[in-house]
Amino acid sequence: MIIIMKPDIDPSGPEITKVLEYLAQFPEIKTRLSGVRGASRVVTEIYLIGPTHHVPTETIEHMPGVERVVRVSSKYRLIGRHGGQLDQIGFEHNGVAFDQDCFHTFIGPCAVDTPEHVETIFKNLQRVGIVTARMGAYKPRTSPYDFQGHGKACLPWVFELAGKYGIKVIAMEVLKEDHIGEISSALHDAGKPTGVMLQVGTRNAQNFELLKAVGSQQEFPVLYKRGMGLSLEEALNACEYIASEGNRNIVFCLRGVKTRLGDPHRNLVDFSHVPVVKRLTRLPVCIDPTHSVGTKDRATDGILDIFHAAAQGVIAGANMILIEFHPRPELALCDGPQALTMKELDHFVADVGITRKAYEERKALAAREIFKEWHP
Ligand code: PEP
Ligand code: MN
Repeated sequence: MIIIMKPDIDPSGPEITKVLEYLAQFPEIKTRLSGVRGASRVVTEIYLIGPTHHVPTETIEHMPGVERVVRVSSKYRLIGRHGGQLDQIGFEHNGVAFDQDCFHTFIGPCAVDTPEHVETIFKNLQRVGIVTARMGAYKPRTSPYDFQGHGKACLPWVFELAGKYGIKVIAMEVLKEDHIGEISSALHDAGKPTGVMLQVGTRNAQNFELLKAVGSQQEFPVLYKRGMGLSLEEALNACEYIASEGNRNIVFCLRGVKTRLGDPHRNLVDFSHVPVVKRLTRLPVCIDPTHSVGTKDRATDGILDIFHAAAQGVIAGANMILIEFHPRPELALCDGPQALTMKELDHFVADVGITRKAYEERKALAAREIFKEWHP
C-alpha cells in the first residue's frame, strides 16, 4: 500500500506525523517514507510493507494532507504505475527535466578518445542547441585485447570541455561501484561544470551488486539499458532493484535484443515496447537506435536504417535518444562503423524533429478522440 501525500507536504511536518501515529497501531506493518522530487513539485509517499489488507484506506484518505491511498501489486512496487493508479513523476538533473513527456537527444562517441574529437562533438552540439551528450570512459568489451576506455584519466578534461560548451548532462557507463566515486570526485575537482547520468550497460543489466550501488546513491540519475537477452519483466525488475535502494531517478533504455531474427541488424529493434514501459512504470523511456541497428546501411528511400529505427521509437513517444556520433568514425576506438558523422548531425536533428512533431500530433488527436468518447 502507498499513501500519497498532497504536493509539498513537509516530510517532517504534522500531517505525516499524524499518519505515522495512526499506523503505529499495526505493529506488523513497516513504513518507509519516500520523497519523489518531480520536475516541478516534491511528493512524499509513505510505503506500507507487510499485511496491509486490514488497514482501512478510507480512514487514511480522510486524514489531513493525504491525497490518495493506493493498494499496489507486489510487481514493480516502486517504479510501477499499478494499473494506472499512479501518475508519472519525473526528476530534474543539473537543470534538465526528465519525465514521460520530455524529449532529449544524447549524442556522442561510444568511447572517449581524444580531446580534439570530444571538443568537436561538444562544439557541434552547442551549435544545434543540444545540451545532453553520451560519452564512454569505461568500456565493457567483448575481447580483452580491445580498447577498454581511458577510465578516470579522461574525466577532468571531458568535464571541463562539457562545461565550456554548455553541456548539462552526460550519459556515462559505469562497470563497478568504484567508477561512481571516480566520476563524483572528478566532477567535484572540476567545479561541477556539467552533470552525469550513470549508465548501466546491457552487459550489466542483471549485475545486482552494481544495480544496488547506483541505487544507493542520490547524486546521479541512472540510465538503465535493457539486457540484450532479458524479457521486459526481468529488465523492469532490475530497475526495481535500483529504486528499492533509494534512487528513483531512473530512465529505462531500450537498445534492441540479441537474436538471429534481427539480422542483418546487430540486434532486433524493440522500440514497440516504448508505450508498454510508459504504461507499466513511472519511468521516462530512452531508445538507443545505434546499438539496435549497428550498421550505417541506407534504405532505398535515402534514409539510414539508424534514422528509421530512431523514428520508430520517437513516433511511439520515446523521451530520450542515445546515439553514437564521431567526427572521424574511421579513427574511433570503439563502435566506429555504426557512428554517425558530424556532417550527419543536422540531418539527424531535423529528421527526429519531424517524427517528434508527428508524435505530438498523434497524442493530441488521441486526446480529442477520447474526449469525444466521454462526451458523446
Ligand atoms: C553504450 O551505450 O556505449 C553501450 C555499450 O551500449 P550497450 O550496453 O547497450 O551495448
Ligand atoms: Mn557503442
